[in-house]
Amino acid sequence: MSESLCRLCNAQATLQHSHILPAFVFRWMRESSGGGYLRLGMTPNRRVQDGLKQHWLCMDCEELFSRAETDFAKKVFYPYTNGSSSRIIYGEWLLRFCVSVSWRVLQFYKEKISLNNFGADEISRITEAEAAWKAFLLAQRRHPGSFRQHLLPLDAIQSITFRQDLSPNLNRYLMRTTDMDLCEGKTASFVYSKLGRFVILGFIRQDRPNQWQGSRVQLRTGLIEPRKYTINGGFWDYLNVRARFVADLQSSISPRQIQKSDEARRANLESYVGSDEFLALLNDLSMFGEAAFAQDDLPEEGGSKESKTSS
Ligand SMILES: [Zn+2]
Repeated sequence: MSESLCRLCNAQATLQHSHILPAFVFRWMRESSGGGYLRLGMTPNRRVQDGLKQHWLCMDCEELFSRAETDFAKKVFYPYTNGSSSRIIYGEWLLRFCVSVSWRVLQFYKEKISLNNFGADEISRITEAEAAWKAFLLAQRRHPGSFRQHLLPLDAIQSITFRQDLSPNLNRYLMRTTDMDLCEGKTASFVYSKLGRFVILGFIRQDRPNQWQGSRVQLRTGLIEPRKYTINGGFWDYLNVRARFVADLQSSISPRQIQKSDEARRANLESYVGSDEFLALLNDLSMFGEAAFAQDDLPEEGGSKESKTSS
């Protein structure tokens, strides 16, 4: 393969075919789906099985990312998701991991989607954030400055009394879905990366930092545990909107894919019933009743939609 510039260190190199969102999350989705076909995420057709990949990084930078990924997967992601540990002390690798994910997703929006919807001020902040994250990852600066990272561990919810109009796949979304976005809000803008039960927010602008307490990733060490997280109220609406977006995408899956999925489940019924995917579905059923199945409806003929982020 011909050489190009590594997006992180700018070295001329043979670039690796690497994941935007870490590979272990897609592995986990496969392992914990009980043999069923995966239909969660922003690209519900085939592609979600392995996640999006790009030729972006040289071998050294790929290595750098993969070390932090291994730490996060082993010490945070699996223990929390499997319920074997909910109180986790982290080291310096956590900030490196979160920044690496935010940087990759931002790079993806810049290069593969577009920043056309953003105004000049926001674009200059995005450019600053990108430079700060890059310099931090390359150990050229000690911390990412005001472009902070927040990590929110999520789980199933029983009810939200102060919110109406909840998406009937909300628990499946919170517990299992992989998703990414570049969001410009009224009081904050951030890169949003969702990895199963974890949300990483890489802030580009944060006008009211006191609305986000308990979730900030510290430079050296800190604790992830069940506690009161203060998050901006609008952020719950945002999660609900994302869940609905995913439900809409899923209702666009081709009948053939649905059939394959159902067949796979039937063939693996025992493991499906014990799976995390089934548990997430149960949570939605107990919260929303039959409406939880709404997204499994067959689409109308020719009614297939594509996510703008699916290519
Ligand atoms: Zn590199």
